[in-house]
Parts: sequence; structure tokens; C-alpha cells
Amino acid sequence: KHEMTPEEGNKESLPLAGLNVMNVIVVAAECAPWSKTGGLGDVAGALPKALARRGHRVMVVVPRYGEYTEPKALGIMKRYKVAGQDMEVTYFHAYIDGVDFVFLDGPIFRHRQNDIYGGNRQDILKRMVLLCKAAVEVPWHVPCGGVCYGDGNLVFIANDWHTALLPVYLKAYYRDHGLMKYTRCVLVIHNIAHQGRGPVEDFFCADLPGHYIDLFKHYDPVGGDHFNIFAAGLKAADRIVTVSHGYAWELKTSEGGWGLDGIINENDWKFQGIVNGIDTKDWNPEVDIHLKSDGYTNYSLATLKSGKAQCKAALQQELGLSVREDVPILAFIGRLDYQKGVDLIGEAMHWIVGNDVQVILLGTGRPDLEDMLKRFEREHNDKVRGWVGFSVKMAHRITAGADILMMPSRFEPCGLNQLYAMAYGTIPVVHAVGGLRDTVRQFDPYSETGFGWAFDRAESNRLINALGNCLNTYWNYKNSWEGLQRRGMMQDLSWDNNAQQYEEVLLAAKYQW
Ligand code: ADP
Repeated sequence: KHEMTPEEGNKESLPLAGLNVMNVIVVAAECAPWSKTGGLGDVAGALPKALARRGHRVMVVVPRYGEYTEPKALGIMKRYKVAGQDMEVTYFHAYIDGVDFVFLDGPIFRHRQNDIYGGNRQDILKRMVLLCKAAVEVPWHVPCGGVCYGDGNLVFIANDWHTALLPVYLKAYYRDHGLMKYTRCVLVIHNIAHQGRGPVEDFFCADLPGHYIDLFKHYDPVGGDHFNIFAAGLKAADRIVTVSHGYAWELKTSEGGWGLDGIINENDWKFQGIVNGIDTKDWNPEVDIHLKSDGYTNYSLATLKSGKAQCKAALQQELGLSVREDVPILAFIGRLDYQKGVDLIGEAMHWIVGNDVQVILLGTGRPDLEDMLKRFEREHNDKVRGWVGFSVKMAHRITAGADILMMPSRFEPCGLNQLYAMAYGTIPVVHAVGGLRDTVRQFDPYSETGFGWAFDRAESNRLINALGNCLNTYWNYKNSWEGLQRRGMMQDLSWDNNAQQYEEVLLAAKYQW
């Protein structure tokens, strides 16, 4: 019988995080699978599980926008003042994959399932104020598995402007008064383009002592003097993280910082990039639940050829395209706005459909771009499908069945779709910016390295050029193509690596390294 050495004994009993185990509370405006409009929801659903796997006690706090099945009411009620008005919050809880998911229920959140950021500026602001005010006190009031987290060994992770008030409240209501002395807050920038801007009078809504106005008052040439929640959060947070190295660099420039580059540069000492990971239960062709019906199939590296071919045929069938294995499917999935550069695909469409290809575009957003998708489907009905809508199922199926994913984003903090594509053996063609630059190394035919094509300017002729090279490889260099697919699928894109980097930031925040 093998006797355990003392070291082995220790390894067994200590979690990966070792003696640094913390209580971590992630606060976000959306969390997949309950609520999601984009990458933020995916991250809020997946990073906490990876931190829990390292041994931390982890909670997610998110509004309850609709009726969810798993979370159960806790029978607790608290009141918070928002813009002079008393608002009630009750709490729902579910313990899933090692994480406490706590949902805040209140009339202002309800029925916003498909409209999380909808309403006028004041409405949105009030929702975020309530979310942050209640979230700071969740570790005191909400027992999980019978026991509250408490504020001793606690770090919050706030996300984007929606929860950038959290580090401010933590300071103004508690730490300034000797409370929550050891609690820290890390703020993650998923997208700097949305900042919670408004006229200076909005400060009233935040319900803070008068001298706090200085944190919020911000000037830039575009907005002049204004109220800026992200600006305040960045100053008040103990550490700032953003979702890739490329974006971390861009945020410090005047083009990439959207007026906040000055603040980020001043706070460079507490700022760093960590690339997002993917949820390998959710986005994994081997177990993907959306590939279990309608002719699709799960596949792995070992069954890549036959499995992907079957998914492709099922996709063509489902969308009424001709079922042909030899025609490459080019796909786009994402929000239809300026950021995602879908208009560049529009400009390139004439060239694209001049080839023997099929094109599938899935997205919602700006009405003119939605019309563009529908128009392309009408004009090129034998080749193009423009699906206007938000369908998680279709996003998975397209990722599995397509050969090429186009991401001509003008800017892209991290981008998850290119990661999902690579995990599914779908080749990304991207604008080399932000996280796309970090994650999609350009294919080099001489060394047979790289994962896709990355063009250097967000212009349609660059996209066309990259697609031309990509299609040439697809048609004429089958071995290279398979190499690209396999390298992409063999990467470890899980959150497990990156969770350790988050842990280091949490520790740095806690001990003020
Ligand atoms: P962003 O957060 O900027 O929208 P990301 O690439 O980080 O971009 O994440 C987008 C997420 O939203 C992905 O999970 C993607 O599949 C999903 N998504 C975007 N648009 C749609 C849509 N129309 N239908 C389904 N899922 C979508």
C-alpha cells in the first residue's frame, strides 16, 4: 500500500488557492444562463465557478429580471433609498457548481429579461444604484447554506459602469466610517464605451455625501463637464482589470480610452489585463446541449471531420440552404452596432457572394443593420441567411456548423465568439484589435502555425483580402485547414488558467501589494 508523504498529504487537503482562500462576491448586471446580452453575462456565469474550483467561497449577485426555476426565495427583505424613494429588495438563492448565485428581486428589475439596459437614463441609473447599494450588504444579510459571508476576508469583483458605484459605496458608506475595513473591490472593464454618463445633476441619484461629487465630475472634449460613474469607480476601486492585454494597452490611448484614458493612466499602478476564458461545459462541442437534436451531433478532436460535417449539414438543412459539404459557410454572430463592424461585412458582401460560399449572419441591434441582414437574405436567397434575433441555440449551432467566423470589430475588449469558434474547429477571421489580437495569431503557411487570419485595419478591403486567403486555404490546402482547426481545438481556453491570475489580483487588492 502506498503511504502518503507529508507533502502529498498537504496537497490533498489544501485547495489550489492554498492558504489564500477568500470570500469573493462577483456583482454584475447580467449573468448567463439567466440573463445575458453579451460577453459580460458569459463571464459572470463562468469566472465564479473557476474561482470556486480553486477553493474560494464565491457568490454572484445579479438582479432577478424574470421568473427563474432553480433559485428559491430566502424570505429576507431589505429597504434601500434610491433617489429619495424607499425601495424593497428580496433575495433568491441557488447553489450551483460550487457557487452561490444570489438574485435581487424588486419591482424595478422585474420583466427586464430582454431589456436589461432599456428605459431612460434615470431609470437605468436607479436600477444600478439599487443593485450596488444592496450588493455591498449582501454578505451581512444573506445567508448562503445557512451562513453569511461576512466582510472579513472579502473581495468584491464589480463589472463595468453598471456596478462601478460599488467601490464608491463601499468607501463612502462603510470604510470612511470604520466599517468593512478589510473588504476590497476590484473593478473589471469589459467595455469602456458605456460609462454611465449624464448631466452633473445626476449626482443626486447616487445618494452620496456632497464632497463625493469630485470623483464623478469628469471633463472631456466630447461630453464637456459631466457626471461619469465609470470615472468614479475607477478611482475608488482597489484594483482595475480589463479583459485582454491588447485592450489594456488601447485603454491608455486617447482613441481607445473614450475620455477615460487619463484616469486609467493615472491609476496604471493598479491596472492590468487578463484574457477571458470560456465556460467549457457550456461551449464545448463534446457536450454542447444545443447539438443533441435536429440532426446535429456532439464532436471532439477525434471525430472532428465527421462530426463537424454532420453539424454543417444540419445547419444548412435547418436554415434552408443547399446541403453541400464542399461549400464553405462564413458566419457572423454579434450585436449589430458600430463596434462589431458588421457594416464592413455589408460593404464586402458583393465580393463575398461572388464566391461559391454560404453566409449566415445572426444578430440584433441597430435597425438599419437589422434591415441590412434581411436585405442580404432577400437579395441572395440561395446563399445568405440573415437571422435577426437573439438565439443562444442558434449561436451554438452556427459556431459548430460554420467553417469560418468573421469578426471585423472596430474595437473588441476581449471577444468571446472567436474563442468559441476555435474551440469548435471554426476558423476566425478578425480585425487585429484588443482581445482579438491577443487570441487569434495569424496563420503562417510556412511554419504551419497560428489560428486564423487577423487583418490590421477595420476596412472592408482588408477583410476581403483576409477572407480571400482564408478561402484559398479552405479550398486548396486541406491539410493546412485541418491543422488550423486542430490547433484551435487543442488550446486550453478554459477559465482555469485565467482564474489564477484573477486570484493574484484579488490578493494584491486585499494586501495592497
Ligand atoms: P460583446 O460582449 O461585446 O457583445 P462578446 O464576443 O464578448 O461580445 O460576447 C458576445 C456573446 O453574446 C457571445 O456569447 C455571443 O454568442 C452572444 N451573442 C451576441 N449576439 C447574439 C445573438 N444575436 N444571439 C445569440 N447570442 C448572441
